[in-house]
Amino acid sequence: MTVKKLYFLLAGSCYLDQSAVNKNLAPGRLLEMPVWSFLLETTDGPILIDTGMPDAFVNNPEYFKGTKREGRVVPKMTANDKIVNILKSAGYRAGDIQAVISSHLHLDHAGGNGHFPKTPIFIQQAEFDAAMGNDDYSPEECRLPDLQYQIIEGDREVAPGVQIFSTPGHSPGHQSVLVTTEHSGPILLTIDVAYTRENFDNGVPFLSYDSESTVRSIKRMKGLIEKVQPSKVFFGHDRVQAREAKVFPDFL
Ligand SMILES: [Zn+2]
Repeated sequence: MTVKKLYFLLAGSCYLDQSAVNKNLAPGRLLEMPVWSFLLETTDGPILIDTGMPDAFVNNPEYFKGTKREGRVVPKMTANDKIVNILKSAGYRAGDIQAVISSHLHLDHAGGNGHFPKTPIFIQQAEFDAAMGNDDYSPEECRLPDLQYQIIEGDREVAPGVQIFSTPGHSPGHQSVLVTTEHSGPILLTIDVAYTRENFDNGVPFLSYDSESTVRSIKRMKGLIEKVQPSKVFFGHDRVQAREAKVFPDFL
């Protein structure tokens, strides 16, 4: 199997308090962060990395009103940003997807997982254990218990050209993905090992479950970069990078 194309799919955005993006900043100002999903076209069918935000967020910026996230997390999502509609615009139905890789089960990464009830969903054991039954992993669409989870511990080559790396810190079982495509060679999707380049390059602290692990995971990814020399390193929610990103129908 080879990966022919990697598509960057923008799946709406989410306003987060600036202190989540840079812990050195005082809370009280919201920043709009891009939300991403990634589609791999392989010789064995399509693979999806992350599924965006839940359908319940569509046209519902006040979703978290009255909760502890009120004023700190404000989703911005239209019907076009639902993962099923994004896939439709790329020519696929949810049932076509051969595998989903869930980087972690936060609201802006796993909200659409319920649209893939028959698809293997690759997730770290630590993330599964942390999320199931835990109200901090809200909304519930992100931690549906009865999906076809493929629980893994540590690194895993899902298929040739699709390598998962365990990178805990931002969440207990966070994972990153190294994709190698025919056109662009290795591309590192750090996902939320770092929200931004500033977090990654300069160690600016951001929202982490365990900041020491985050530092270790960033270091690990830097080692990987040195070894495989990716043609692109992409961060989870970097607004500058998003402006320059080649999104669907462009591909890497
Ligand atoms: Zn996250």
